[in-house]
Amino acid sequence: MESLRCANCGQIIAYSDAVCLDVLNSITHKKCYDLRFALKDTGTFQDIVNKYSFFKELRE
Ligand SMILES: [Zn+2]
Repeated sequence: MESLRCANCGQIIAYSDAVCLDVLNSITHKKCYDLRFALKDTGTFQDIVNKYSFFKELRE
């Protein structure tokens, strides 16, 4: 299973973390999100990975 790092703090994102997906399809923790790019979606990392097919390599 691959892992994904937060685009802001660089820490590995856990499936239970609250995250933001921006319009460039980069993931940051919700607490790290700084509004540089428009927000596309938000939820737990698990939710986002299951919702968007481009993250299918990251599905558990
Ligand atoms: Zn972060």
